[in-house]
Amino acid sequence: MTTYGRFPLALERGLGCRVWDTEGREYLDFVAGIATCTLGHAHPALVAAVTQQIQTLHHVSNLYYIPQQGELAKWLVEHSCADRAFFCNSGAEANEGAIKLARKYAHTVLNISDPVIITAHASFHGRTLAAITATGQPKYQKNFNPLVPGFHYVPYNDLAALEAAIAELDSQERRVAAILLEPLQGEGGVNPGDVAYFQRIREICDQTGILLMLDEVQVGMGRSGKLWGYENLGIEPDVFTSAKGLGGGIPIGALLCKTFCDVFEAGDHASTFGGNPFVCGVSLSVCHTLEQENLLANVQARGEQLRAGLEAIAQRYPTLLAEVRGWGLINGLVLQPEVALTAGDIVKAAMAEGLLLVPAGPKVLRWVPPLIVSEAEVNLALQAVERAIASLSI
Ligand SMILES: *Cc1c(COP(=O)(O)O)cnc(C)c1O
Repeated sequence: MTTYGRFPLALERGLGCRVWDTEGREYLDFVAGIATCTLGHAHPALVAAVTQQIQTLHHVSNLYYIPQQGELAKWLVEHSCADRAFFCNSGAEANEGAIKLARKYAHTVLNISDPVIITAHASFHGRTLAAITATGQPKYQKNFNPLVPGFHYVPYNDLAALEAAIAELDSQERRVAAILLEPLQGEGGVNPGDVAYFQRIREICDQTGILLMLDEVQVGMGRSGKLWGYENLGIEPDVFTSAKGLGGGIPIGALLCKTFCDVFEAGDHASTFGGNPFVCGVSLSVCHTLEQENLLANVQARGEQLRAGLEAIAQRYPTLLAEVRGWGLINGLVLQPEVALTAGDIVKAAMAEGLLLVPAGPKVLRWVPPLIVSEAEVNLALQAVERAIASLSI
């Protein structure tokens, strides 16, 4: 089906942060499968884990215990605020699980018969029906009505609007069961969460029993320079979801929560492929490599280097570029609102200069390279984007 608007490019091979197209042209890959290939391409640890697991046992179903699934769950709970994990295949599916968990928690613990989940404008939570409903962007919902009931939207990082929404819903006797937010909005334009906003939400949730659920699908697993996006906000969620970087490019998603809100019982939720030996074995190799190669330190250093370089470029092109924002290795180069050029135009020009980038909306250029990216590669990418911008500005 023609669901994707594609660039005229077919990639054939990758190594580290570089990929080659079918014509043999080389590109620096600052898309990383959209914030997914944390270890880049053909990383020896990933190759070894894939090979070892496929030769041993790749899939059996959740009718039986799966040691790799247990080990991955153990690593995740030991390295996060969560106590329990459920595995699935994607970010949307992880968020579906979070929505079901919040509803069951509302019915069985909070005693809410018509629960509402609050999400943010400009958010992105995936493409299944409940996930597009949670996604506060009309362009993803258009023509797919009727949407799933039980969602309410507020502007991101706006505390007064959130407090007003909770009060309004309470007065209609449609009580709030959960607040679902990204710690940093990725797809919606690389908008970092505000620390004071999230800290106050944590207090509200503690006082009211509302669940705080964070979508860590894009920003989690080290991309922000901390393992989880919420660590940048000084709070802990009750529930969070992961996918994208969790598998380093193999399809896996996870729903994680604290014990008190793990209301799922046997039969409540399932996924045929979810948490199979193959994906869990490979994901564990990603987790271990993050630690062994001390990648969080690299993410912080390369992120600072990248932002400083982009800020210098923004100063040289002030009529075109407005600002640079982000955490670690998820950064946005924001275009001036009034210029006719779009982020897509710069992406195309950068491609001609041997650099792959992805937009986050029409006016933001998203920078999400592999977490293994080197100082020299960041410099090459900065030079390439500046050549691209210069070619467009003439
Ligand atoms: C990509 C993304 C999703 C959807 O993940 P899929 O694996 O495509 O279903 C959900 N939430 C956020 C924040 C994302 O960036």
